[in-house]
Amino acid sequence: MADLIVTIDGPAGSGKSTMAKRLAERLGATFLDTGAMYRGITLAAVQDGADLTDEEQLVRVVQGHRFDFEAASGRMLVRIDGDDVTERIRDPDLTAKVRHVAVAPRVREQLVAMQRAFAARHGRIVTEGRDQGTVVFPDAHLKFFLTADAAERARRRADELRAKGAEVDLEEIRQAIEARDRSDENRAVGPLKPAQNAVMIDSTGRSIEESVERICRLAEERIGAAVPCPPQPPQSEAPAARKDKPHPPAGATRSPAAWYWLARVVCQFFCILFFRYRSYGRENIPRTGSFILASNHQSFLDPVFCGVAVKRRLTYVARDTLFRNRFFGRLITSVNAIPIGRDKADIAAMRMIIERLREGAGVCLYPEGTRTHDGRVIAVKPGFGLLCRRSKATVVPVLIDGAFESWSRYKRFFTPGAILVQFGKPLAPEQIAAMSNEQLADTLTRTLRRMQREVRLKQGKQPYDYKK
Ligand code: C5P
Repeated sequence: MADLIVTIDGPAGSGKSTMAKRLAERLGATFLDTGAMYRGITLAAVQDGADLTDEEQLVRVVQGHRFDFEAASGRMLVRIDGDDVTERIRDPDLTAKVRHVAVAPRVREQLVAMQRAFAARHGRIVTEGRDQGTVVFPDAHLKFFLTADAAERARRRADELRAKGAEVDLEEIRQAIEARDRSDENRAVGPLKPAQNAVMIDSTGRSIEESVERICRLAEERIGAAVPCPPQPPQSEAPAARKDKPHPPAGATRSPAAWYWLARVVCQFFCILFFRYRSYGRENIPRTGSFILASNHQSFLDPVFCGVAVKRRLTYVARDTLFRNRFFGRLITSVNAIPIGRDKADIAAMRMIIERLREGAGVCLYPEGTRTHDGRVIAVKPGFGLLCRRSKATVVPVLIDGAFESWSRYKRFFTPGAILVQFGKPLAPEQIAAMSNEQLADTLTRTLRRMQREVRLKQGKQPYDYKK
């Protein structure tokens, strides 16, 4: 299976394409528009003069041409035997004919195979259609099902057509949409229906922008948990596998001070040697009492980049799978790392962190939950508020810049570069107590994004665009 598959299914005009494109951009994935595939086959059949109700003839059309489907500049380019038909497949007359092709089981079989091959080629995809979560990718990492009432979908389609200068009859469009819904919902193979584990999104009464934002946030929150977890060992292997589990005392003990400071000096040399490392705003780190360094997360080296600037001994929170390697697990445990599970609320880890904070320690963690896919700051998870409230710790926002360029999640090894770390104005426990978890998550997300913008402008770099 590909590294990442997100499916978005739903009826015509529900906003699938816009959302799939935008989500793909956010996740650094390739966008697959499967409707364009059905449209391409239909156009080829019409051009060949095939009887659209004869499955045998349709299969011959699929086998008799070369179809290329390629994602480029945020849309799906479709070619039939090298001829670019990307615009022609959107013709309303052709659209009305696609349902004949869509009900032919053997045609669908071939398209399902092409869609899976596309996913295998690209590794990370966001795919949209009718049967993506149910038939084509039942094991997708995340599934969405979009809905919106037919009248609203018709209005959106009419607006699109008007924007292109076409004359439109709203009632006619609504009827055409409803006819397509009926055909899509009632066909025997690959009907339009939500997968059992799909997240339902109703965009009626919301702008597409709002729904895009919602879907992106949900995806970013969940994908970190779904993607990188290695398969669990089968039950029968449990005793032997135990040695690969997080080291039992991990985080329960504290490293000897001398070892921690020695490690920090080594890391400082490493940062100067390879990363032209600079940090600003260190006066914002409390000299006494508990605090949380809430940092954006760009690379595996982020704890090093945070830790070398701080003169107090920190506790670090790291994903539990990193402790599975015995040597690495011991190494990070020895410098105060606590393992945390990402695919569920890890109560034991939370307790340990709160305990440390109540003892007056400084904890470095990454409230986005996972490393960024594109350098941008991912929305902070509201669950972070719980930790702050319970521990009554001061929260210091930390912005790391340059780590994504040096060692993004897509690179095997780091490359030298320039790292800049900015410590922001702290949020006092009283301020945090006056906010809801959502407000805190929102404030922190906005603060980190603003700091990122300032830091990048200061270095003459292009800031990231969060409006897209
Ligand atoms: O998504 P779009 O409107 O471009 O799809 C055109 C038609 O292709 C749909 O009305 C539907 O009949 C068919 N289709 C399908 N299965 C998919 C994608 C599209 O049957 N996965």
